[in-house]
Amino acid sequence: MLKDMFDRDSSLSFEVFPPKKEADFSDCFKILDSLSTLSPDFISVTYGAGGSNSKKTVEIASYIQNTLHTDAMAHLTCVGSSEADILQVTNELEKVGVEHVLALRGDKPRDMSEEQFEKRIFPHATDLIHFLNTNTNLDISASCYPEKHPEAISMDSDIAFMKMKQDMGAKMFISQLFFDNTDFYRFVERAKNAGITVPIVAGIMPITSARQIGSTVTLAGSSVPKKLADICAKYGDQPDEMRSAGIEYAINQINDLKKCGMGHIHIYCMNKPKMTSEICAAIK
Ligand code: FAD
Repeated sequence: MLKDMFDRDSSLSFEVFPPKKEADFSDCFKILDSLSTLSPDFISVTYGAGGSNSKKTVEIASYIQNTLHTDAMAHLTCVGSSEADILQVTNELEKVGVEHVLALRGDKPRDMSEEQFEKRIFPHATDLIHFLNTNTNLDISASCYPEKHPEAISMDSDIAFMKMKQDMGAKMFISQLFFDNTDFYRFVERAKNAGITVPIVAGIMPITSARQIGSTVTLAGSSVPKKLADICAKYGDQPDEMRSAGIEYAINQINDLKKCGMGHIHIYCMNKPKMTSEICAAIK
């Protein structure tokens, strides 16, 4: 359960994204049915940076919470939102019994001008967290970045804002994806030294196709260690071998994290239940 997690030193959770097309909703529900059989502590649902798919996020989070009776966490971005927009979504979430949000700023949507971005109502996730804590009863988590956020001037400043998120009411952090556990261990130590006391959940993205390195990973700004780059170079044209090697890499990352006492694991499962179940079966 999500609420118990704050007092435990291990947990397992998954992240899914809403389908792009309305017609794909039933497939998405089937994916969620499969994922819930793996008994995660919660499943989180992503949200469009501009708020475009907010209804889909609420609908999917509601399905997880009310049909599957698994705790749902709804991501919520504020980059293109007014206070009224945010309250509309949080009211819907509270109405359907979803109690936990991941409060994010979001990236500048493509159709937003620089001027609109500069004048945005919620400049940062810290402002959203403060607003949510003042105006809703939702539990709040936030993001963190083991290799620092690409816009941050330094790791120290990024961690100082992380501390501000905790002070504003964030009860847990979920990390950006990373492929070198050493980066995560170093980051957690620095965050703890800066006063972070709430759980820091490790975000793990299995790389099952070499193309992912060029898209998702570049966007996230995560560095790719030689070992993973070599796997992609070796198996880039062999989909089955690439999938197996990528899954094995993620399993090794997770088992090493657990062995080192970092037991909170969040799998960016890319709506792939078979892959997720293979990983779960191999986690020690
Ligand atoms: P912020 O915390 O606002 O940080 C952005 C930058 O501003 C950083 O450099 C930070 O150091 C700095 N900063 C923070 N607070 C302040 C402050 N008070 N004053 C000055 N500077 C400050 N995107 C989506 O669109 N939808 C999703 O569902 C989604 N889910 C995500 C889940 C996770 C676990 C993570 C790690 C990221 C996710 N993202 C998602 C991506 C995220 O929206 C982007 O990384 C975005 O660029 C930053 O969002 P943030 O909430 O971390 O921003």
